[in-house]
Amino acid sequence: MRQNFDVLIVGGGVTGAAVGYGLAKKGVKVGVVDATPPVDRASRSNMGLIWCQSKALGHRNYVEWCFNSSKLFGELAEELKKTSGIDIEYTESGGIIPCLGEEEFTKRSDYLDALRKEAGEEGYPGTMMTRDELEAKLPNITFGPNVTGATWCAEDGLVEPLKLMFALRHGMANLGGTLIPDTNVIDIVKTDSGYLVTTDNGEIECTRLVLAGGLGNRQLAGKFGVSVPVVPNKGQVFLTERVPDVLPSPLLGITRTRGGTIMIGFEHEYVGTDTSLHTEKFCHVAKWATDIWPALADLRIIRTWSCLRVWPKDGFPIYDKIPGHENGFILNAHSAVTLAAIHVAELPDFIMGNDICKTAADFTLSRFDEK
Ligand SMILES: Cc1cc2nc3c(=O)[nH]c(=O)nc-3n(C[C@H](O)[C@H](O)[C@H](O)COP(=O)(O)OP(=O)(O)OC[C@H]3O[C@@H](n4cnc5c(N)ncnc54)[C@H](O)[C@@H]3O)c2cc1C
Repeated sequence: MRQNFDVLIVGGGVTGAAVGYGLAKKGVKVGVVDATPPVDRASRSNMGLIWCQSKALGHRNYVEWCFNSSKLFGELAEELKKTSGIDIEYTESGGIIPCLGEEEFTKRSDYLDALRKEAGEEGYPGTMMTRDELEAKLPNITFGPNVTGATWCAEDGLVEPLKLMFALRHGMANLGGTLIPDTNVIDIVKTDSGYLVTTDNGEIECTRLVLAGGLGNRQLAGKFGVSVPVVPNKGQVFLTERVPDVLPSPLLGITRTRGGTIMIGFEHEYVGTDTSLHTEKFCHVAKWATDIWPALADLRIIRTWSCLRVWPKDGFPIYDKIPGHENGFILNAHSAVTLAAIHVAELPDFIMGNDICKTAADFTLSRFDEK
C-alpha cells in the first residue's frame, strides 16, 4: 500500500528536517523523504556557525530574520534534548570577524556604521573591537602582527551541525513524523487530491508537497516547469588536530569544535558541481588563517573536504508556493543552519496555508523575475 501524508517534504537536510520537526510539533502527519548521502553534502559538511553579524546591508528583513533565528536557538537546543535525546552543542559564544590591516578595519567599521544607521531605533548589536580588546576577549591566542582588531557580535553562536540535523530528524520521528531515508524521489505528478511522488522505493501520496532538496530543487521543481535560481557555491574546509579550549568564540572562518579540532574555511567558488580539492586554495586559506593566528601553522591537518553551498542567486532565502500550486512549496536557503530555529518556528504555518510572516514576505521566487 502507498504511504500517505498530509505533508511530504522532499529533502531531509537541515531545511527539510527543521520544517518537518516544526510540522510534527503541530501534530501534522508529515513525512520527510531523503536521498542517500553524499547527495546531502551541505548539511553534513558545514561550519555550524549561527551567524548574524555583518550580513546584508540594504536587506533589513534578512538581517532581522537571522537575528530572530539566533534568539530562538537556546530554546530550540533545550527542546531538542527532550524531543530527540540529542544535545546539539549550542553555545551562545558570540562571534568575531578579525581584521587584517588598517584598511580592512576601516572598511568593516564603515560597514558596521551603515548597518547601524539602517537599523535606526531598533539598534544593531555588532561592535568594533580594537586589537587590545580582541586580545582581552581571547587571551590564549597570540594574534599575528597585522591583526588590527575585529568586529564582535554577542548574538552569534555555534552548534554541532550534524547533531542539529539528526536531532531535528529524530525529534520529528519521536513526535509522530516519518523519516524515509535512502530514498530518491524520481518523479512527482499533481493529482486531484494532492501529489503522487514516485521514488526508487515505491510511491507516496500527499496533500501538500514541500521541495526542500537543496540544489536538488532544480531538478525537482523542473518537473513542474519551474526554474529555481539556486547555484552551487563550493567551499573547501580543513580540520586540524585537537587543541585545548583556547577559542571560546569562533572567528568567521576559524572555529573550534567541542571535540577540540579546529575547522578552517572561508572560500566561495562558483565552479559548478566540481568538488575536487585544490592545493592552491588550501595555501591561500592557510596563509590567511596563519596571518591571523600564527600558531595554527604548527598543527597537523587531519582532514580536508569540499562541499557545495546551496546558493540562491541573490544570496537570500526562497520560501514560496510552486507557481500555480496552492499546496506545493519551494524552500531554499543558504545559512540554513543559522536559520534552522526560525524555520522550525515560522515555516510550518506557511506550509499549512497561512501567510508567511511579514519579515519573510519578500523571499519569493517572483523577485528574480522582476530583475
Ligand atoms: C563549507 C560550508 C560551510 C557552511 N557553513 C555554514 C555555517 O557556518 N552556518 C550556516 O548557517 N550555514 C552554513 N553553510 C550553509 C548550510 O550548510 C546550508 O545552507 C544548508 O546545509 C542547506 O541545507 P538544505 O537542507 O537546504 O540543503 P542540503 O543540505 O543540500 O539538503 C538537501 C537534501 O535533499 C535531499 N535531496 C535532494 N534531491 C532529492 C531527491 N530527488 N530525492 C530525495 N532527496 C533529495 C539531499 O539528499 C539532501 O539531504 C555552509 C555550507 C558550506 C558548503
